[in-house]
Amino acid sequence: MSQLELNTTSATARKTYFVDVMLPVPIPKMFTYRVPYELNEIVQVGCRVIVQFGSRKILTGVIGRIHEIPPEKYEAKTILELLDEEPVIHKLQITLFQWMADYYMCTLGEVLNIALPSGLKLSSESRIQLHPHFDYYGSSLEFSDKETLLLETLLKNDSLSYSEISKLLHQKTIYTIIKSLVYKEAVIIFEEVKEKYKPKKETRVRIAPHLLIDHQLEALFDLLASKPKQEAILLHYLQHVPVFNQPELNRQGLAKNTFGNGGLSESSLKTLVKNGVFEEFEIIISRFGSYDQQLTDITLTAEQEKAKANILESFKTKDTTLLHGITGSGKTEIYISLIQDALEGGSQVLYLLPEIALTTQIVTRLRKVFGDQMGVYHSRFSDNERVEVWKGVLNGKYQFVVGVRSSIFLPFDNLGLIIVDEEHESSYKQYDPAPRYSARDVAIVIAAHHHAKVLLGSATPSMESQYQARQGKYGLVKLTSRYGMAVLPEFAVADMIRERNKKLSKGEFSSLLIEAINEALDNKEQVIIFQNRRGYSPYITCHECGWIPKCTNCAVSLTYHQYRAELRCHYCGYKEPMPTTCEACGSTHLKTIGFGTEKLEEEIALLFPQAKVQRMDLDTTRRKNSYDTIIKDFEQGHIDILVGTQMVSKGLDFDNVSLVGIFDIDRMLHFPDFRSFERTFQLSTQVSGRAGRRGKKGKVVIQTRNTSQRILHQIISNGYQDFYETEINERKAHLYPPFTRIIGVTIKNKDPKTAKITAMKMGNLVREKIGTNRVLGPEEPIISKIRNEYLMELVVKLERSQINLGKVKSLLYESMLEVLQEKELRSSKIIFDVDPY
Ligand SMILES: [Zn+2]
Ligand SMILES: [Zn+2]
Repeated sequence: MSQLELNTTSATARKTYFVDVMLPVPIPKMFTYRVPYELNEIVQVGCRVIVQFGSRKILTGVIGRIHEIPPEKYEAKTILELLDEEPVIHKLQITLFQWMADYYMCTLGEVLNIALPSGLKLSSESRIQLHPHFDYYGSSLEFSDKETLLLETLLKNDSLSYSEISKLLHQKTIYTIIKSLVYKEAVIIFEEVKEKYKPKKETRVRIAPHLLIDHQLEALFDLLASKPKQEAILLHYLQHVPVFNQPELNRQGLAKNTFGNGGLSESSLKTLVKNGVFEEFEIIISRFGSYDQQLTDITLTAEQEKAKANILESFKTKDTTLLHGITGSGKTEIYISLIQDALEGGSQVLYLLPEIALTTQIVTRLRKVFGDQMGVYHSRFSDNERVEVWKGVLNGKYQFVVGVRSSIFLPFDNLGLIIVDEEHESSYKQYDPAPRYSARDVAIVIAAHHHAKVLLGSATPSMESQYQARQGKYGLVKLTSRYGMAVLPEFAVADMIRERNKKLSKGEFSSLLIEAINEALDNKEQVIIFQNRRGYSPYITCHECGWIPKCTNCAVSLTYHQYRAELRCHYCGYKEPMPTTCEACGSTHLKTIGFGTEKLEEEIALLFPQAKVQRMDLDTTRRKNSYDTIIKDFEQGHIDILVGTQMVSKGLDFDNVSLVGIFDIDRMLHFPDFRSFERTFQLSTQVSGRAGRRGKKGKVVIQTRNTSQRILHQIISNGYQDFYETEINERKAHLYPPFTRIIGVTIKNKDPKTAKITAMKMGNLVREKIGTNRVLGPEEPIISKIRNEYLMELVVKLERSQINLGKVKSLLYESMLEVLQEKELRSSKIIFDVDPY
């Protein structure tokens, strides 16, 4: 119901309205509340409300629907407060959230919880205040020392939160004290709901407006002639705010901190404020600095121009188009040009990137072109920063957003174009918690809602997207030559078995790679070393008895991290000091097995003592700007050799890298997953693309124990087509996506036996309901225990056509409810993952 209708009806009769509210709790449906009469004319779909849920919880929800039907099964509570006069989410988003809940088999509350930045959610906190009728000084009751301290502090403060009280009393558990005081009717507890988002404010000063008329300012100068410090302040102000020529500028004033920073006396400014010459005021400012557009003209090469024309042509008949451009072919310029066109046409644009932190270079480049109208949205932002981008999209400040997967939730209402760059990247998939969505796939759904176009870009398209393009469902545009003068790199394969047998290799490095590194260093060129495993070694073992330290919470061996002399679990974060002796036999002969980035870094330092080495992996980039710092150092030539995990394969563009070394490709290939070949091909091709740019031919050395594997030759010959053909035939033969659709079912329980029984029952029931051939398992996954929960897995494989997906999903859901009804199995969790990556 629109507001207009509400206005007309409410004039005639006082109606009782109900709202269905989306709540950020895992319940499957919206919850209905009554609208107080005084809000009848202001409630709108998309506005936030505060409501009571259950007997104790106070929650913020979003109105999803307004109607006049009271709920059947329960009496509707009245909404406590309406938080927004204007909607914070659009109707299109509500449609999207509902679609996501259905498709990804989770609740609307779970979607909402992930969608809204926590700054838009409210937190409720219990606070304590003195009981209104309590007379501390007149009371004859006895209080303990701590109670006295608390009561006396409350006399001075209006109220205290639990955490403030705990700090005051220097103890963690304060409930007995509070309970006792409540019993004595000395204090009461209340819930305070507070908004998490805090606008950033700036204190400014301006000349008191009455001084700007009738030459009063000139008179003021005469008066201040004897007070040079105050005069300097007035001059500083007039220099920045030319009020003589443009008196209207006085209204916005000047930030107070510019005076102090300019070396001017702050106390003199204070005096001027006190004497009424200046007035102080506060304004809300953006957390993001302002940026100038520096470069508006993008010149495309003839090939880029042609590709752009082809994309536009394809958009005439296809909603989604795949741009397959080899690494370094200049896709970004084409994106920029398309974005400019879309913005000029008046529509919004969303540009998705797999990980912003890993793509600083692209963001910097876009910033130069789009300046302030571009918003950036990513996971390393604070909540307040995210709320600002959210609000900026709502109020039209940001017509264009570049962001990671969660930016699909932003409140767009008029998208014209969505670009999904590096569309093959697995970081577009959210694994945990629900909704377990793919931002690439959701982007295509959003585009349909907005009648917008989607451009998927990649040098190594996913099997799914390439297949859709071949089938004619997506448009396909190719870019086959490298941008500028760049040429594709030359490949060399190091046979590690031969190297080891002939004792040519040193440590993990083949003689071939050592030679190539020396050559690059001699030529003052840079090197990237890729090993997709962090830490020093994946495990250690006792030489005498074979003991291997395992995680206490997960069924995995602990990774050795030399830098901190620790063993760590990469699944749950458990860590312990590196043991000096075997815990089983007491031997001191412990050895490391396998290698990660840390060990390679150490070996590089020994093999190439003259080179400056830096490691880039999760361990060295945890802090907010550490990634940027490493990139900058590498760009400026302060680092000769960069060794890292898949982070080094992404979107980086370095002019002076002539060599890339790829380690342990065999391990990536033999990972037991139907996508392991696809992943290895993509990663190797992407990281190889970092070698040789701007006219220099680069070199790539791949180390392997099996030089004859076909996929190696497909990587070397840049044979994407060849790779695609073999891989798609494999998928077809074994009925894997894109020929089938997969729904993963994970069963978790703290007890291994219960996990197994639950999985068996679930498996049997699902087989019964949807057909034996469509269900695989249950099986123990490779890692059968994570964070003290034992796991079992079922795989549901569904044909692409002639199947009612919605029906299958509801059968799966029913099966789950049925299994979990059994008392002994109730402690199990059953989790669905639709289209797992
Ligand atoms: Zn663990
Ligand atoms: Zn031992």
